[in-house]
Amino acid sequence: MADDAIRCDACPVLCYIKPGRTGSCDRYGNYEGKLVRLDPHVVLDRTVERGDSVVPFLERSRDWDGTLVSHGETFVTAIGAGTTYPDYKPAPFIISSQVEGVDMVTVVTEGIFSYCGVKAKIDTDRHLGAECSSVRSQGEAIGHVTTSEYGSQMLSLGGVRHLTGGSRHEGTATCDALLKLCNGSAVELKIDDGARVVVQAGKPPIVDGVQEERMRVGCGSATIGMFAKQWFGKIDEVVVVDDHITGVLSEHQAGKLLGVPETGIKLRGRRSTPGRYFQVADPGTSWGGTNVDDPLSILGKFSAKKAWPGLRLLMVSTTGEHHAYFELGEDLKPHERELPANLRQSVARIKENCEPALCTVMFMGGAGGSLRAGVTENPVKLTHSVRDALTRITCGGAPVYVWPGGGITFMVDITRMPQNAFGYVPTPALVAPIEFTLKLVDYSALGGYMESVRPLSSVVSHQDGRRRVTARTDNPWPLQAEARKK
Ligand code: SF4
Repeated sequence: MADDAIRCDACPVLCYIKPGRTGSCDRYGNYEGKLVRLDPHVVLDRTVERGDSVVPFLERSRDWDGTLVSHGETFVTAIGAGTTYPDYKPAPFIISSQVEGVDMVTVVTEGIFSYCGVKAKIDTDRHLGAECSSVRSQGEAIGHVTTSEYGSQMLSLGGVRHLTGGSRHEGTATCDALLKLCNGSAVELKIDDGARVVVQAGKPPIVDGVQEERMRVGCGSATIGMFAKQWFGKIDEVVVVDDHITGVLSEHQAGKLLGVPETGIKLRGRRSTPGRYFQVADPGTSWGGTNVDDPLSILGKFSAKKAWPGLRLLMVSTTGEHHAYFELGEDLKPHERELPANLRQSVARIKENCEPALCTVMFMGGAGGSLRAGVTENPVKLTHSVRDALTRITCGGAPVYVWPGGGITFMVDITRMPQNAFGYVPTPALVAPIEFTLKLVDYSALGGYMESVRPLSSVVSHQDGRRRVTARTDNPWPLQAEARKK
């Protein structure tokens, strides 16, 4: 072009980039008239198994020194590898290597995902928001609250509808939040009619400004079952307050089997089965994920026929964070007293059994679309090959879970990937590394681009723009596992 701009054809945006400038996504630049992928291309090195010292992941990152390593111990990831567009072109790198006497091939590309999102697991009992409530970032709806899991609240973020189906700002805000989450940064999310929560992979969630410490030991009923024996003989009644299932010791099967006598206690809410109550209060961020600040508010009057003055009552939440001890007076009303020493250990034991609260960020994407055409001229064969376990998929060398059914829909724990493995393009869509590893003979059989296969040595002997990173020892080594499928 007249102004020496060059066109980047790595995504549908097709930026014109002037000399010394970068394109819209900052991933590509015009360097002395050449289109250059700006981030270093990451190559994993299984150094540890060669006997070198064990060092934390990434700490060993360094500029590529050009050292050649044997084929089985080097894995070319897609991080920084670039993308080919349109899809019928072969992927940027199709690398052959020999592992344990087997010829292998790894097809490497940075996939552009319009169909992608994040499933976030937030370990907390605190109510973040009602199911289906919108989750917002920068004021835009970027996802929703989905079904709770055991001790965790789940968010479904991103997806094609938020990326492409709303306003331009909604798509941009969605892409921005997904990118930050996937690259390990903290993102503050606001849930409609609910909490404000800071989410960061591998870190405790911060709910309405309070850092969560632990996730619950179990539901209220499970907590009764777990600790009934430790309470037996030391207390007359225990109520474990829980937004979902509140447990009552004397009525629960665990109490019955131990011979705990009836206490005449009455709970608000709906009795499900003996000693298990639903809906004792509204959801909230206090006792056991309810809105209860005064635990006595979930109790009715004690039955005068069964209760007795001096009856000892412990009320505790599912994390042990909240607890209170009461004794009934002559009027059969509970009066708060100091927790007796012989009960302190059981409350401490509940806390001890609660795991640290963390946020988990799982990237989920669909590689079942056009991305496959960069691997083979007959894309459905790649899907079949993945289904038949002949092809292994990794993301930046990390293992993925592939959903059963059609297409190639996968999930990956972003904390098992190298940091900053994700990028974006302003269409908007997320860019995620993806590698397909299989035996060379299988690659040929599925219609792979055999003429584009190049040896590993042709990649690792060039140090320009490459970075060697020590592979994590807790990730399976992709090449080895595939090679053993002889
Ligand atoms: S947005 Fe990035 S990948 Fe897409 S054309 Fe522009 S520079 Fe290239």
